[in-house]
Amino acid sequence: MTTINENYLKLKAGYLFPEIARRVNAFAQANPDAKIIRLGIGDVTEPLPTACRTAMIKAVEEMGDRATFKGYGPEQGYDWLREKIAAHDYQARGCEVDKSEIFISDGSKCDTGNILDIFGNNNTIAVTDPVYPVYVDTNVMAGHTGPANEAGEFGGLVYLPITAENNFTAQIPSQKVDIIYLCFPNNPTGAVATKEHLKAWVDYAKANGSIIFFDAAYEAFISDPEIPHSIYEIEGARDCAIEFRSFSKNAGFTGTRCALTVVPQTLTAQASDGTNVELWKLWNRRQSTKFNGVSYIIQRGAEAVYSPEGEAQIKALVSFYMSNAKIIREQLTAAGVQVYGGVNAPYVWVKTPNSLSSWDFFDHLLQTVNVVGTPGSGFGASGEGYFRISAFNSRENVEEAMKRITSRV
Ligand SMILES: *Cc1c(COP(=O)(O)O)cnc(C)c1O
Repeated sequence: MTTINENYLKLKAGYLFPEIARRVNAFAQANPDAKIIRLGIGDVTEPLPTACRTAMIKAVEEMGDRATFKGYGPEQGYDWLREKIAAHDYQARGCEVDKSEIFISDGSKCDTGNILDIFGNNNTIAVTDPVYPVYVDTNVMAGHTGPANEAGEFGGLVYLPITAENNFTAQIPSQKVDIIYLCFPNNPTGAVATKEHLKAWVDYAKANGSIIFFDAAYEAFISDPEIPHSIYEIEGARDCAIEFRSFSKNAGFTGTRCALTVVPQTLTAQASDGTNVELWKLWNRRQSTKFNGVSYIIQRGAEAVYSPEGEAQIKALVSFYMSNAKIIREQLTAAGVQVYGGVNAPYVWVKTPNSLSSWDFFDHLLQTVNVVGTPGSGFGASGEGYFRISAFNSRENVEEAMKRITSRV
């Protein structure tokens, strides 16, 4: 009899977003006239920048002509895109990242999961709590954890609580961990890390032979000039960090799909015989074997992000969402609600009023003002008592939602 990967049975079946959908649908059915505003799921709402669309249309035309038609591209991505990323996103910030170290992919979600392919199965893995669920579930699928307890915590993982008490930045663990997932600016809390905080992690990783998985999907939303955009702004990070970036949030590519992972040539990890192996080689081999590259058309669209028009359009897009975040922060604060984040990240992390649980506050908002957010407890046990509101929406919806919430909290 054929057997399955039993690890999938450990996953918490249909939790956060399916449960939100279930409650919203039940409410909508019972109240067909309610005008529900969804500030829950972290998807963008505004159209693709013109520069990206123009570049993609041109690329489609090239595909229609035998002379310019493209078949399989390089698995690592086209050089012209990798070059622009290296120059604009890294070298311009003083980071030593070469284009050969940039691997273009169809998403950071898959990359943060796939990266586990090149690591051993006995590493100690640390995640923050609350956390982007992909980091946890992909480790469960790979068999790196035991079963979950009642709080939803998986045996074998090291959970680092992030709460208001520690400014939503995890304390450096006292024990040794091999792999640490960091996400800054953070989803879901909207927190950012200072240079000093990242330096402490890099120092820890170097002292312990650990690797940091740095998810910088929201770096474009940083407005504070003191906040680093890349882990490679920290000295020594090339020896201990892999960075993930995506065009999903800055350029609205959630439905278009393009991202990148940086694996420095200097980064190594150990084989069982004690030799240090270059991770770049393993990731290059992994991608060449299991991936055939991102569509030429899409890579041309991503390249346009770095043109002068593209840069201006992306800046406008980011500032549009960040103005939403400002409205959310200011309106909730004026209504006496404690909020965090939303300054260098498109998420506002709300302390639930009157000590309501995350789900009770969710139900309260849904039923009284027909606004949907995301219960903090869905991102981890330490998210209990918090609630995420996303700035990814139309201005009209954000203003209307805030008017309704502030009249009722
Ligand atoms: C949205 C998001 C990403 C981007 O994922 P893609 O697969 O590139 O769309 C990565 N990390 C986090 C934490 C995110 O919220």
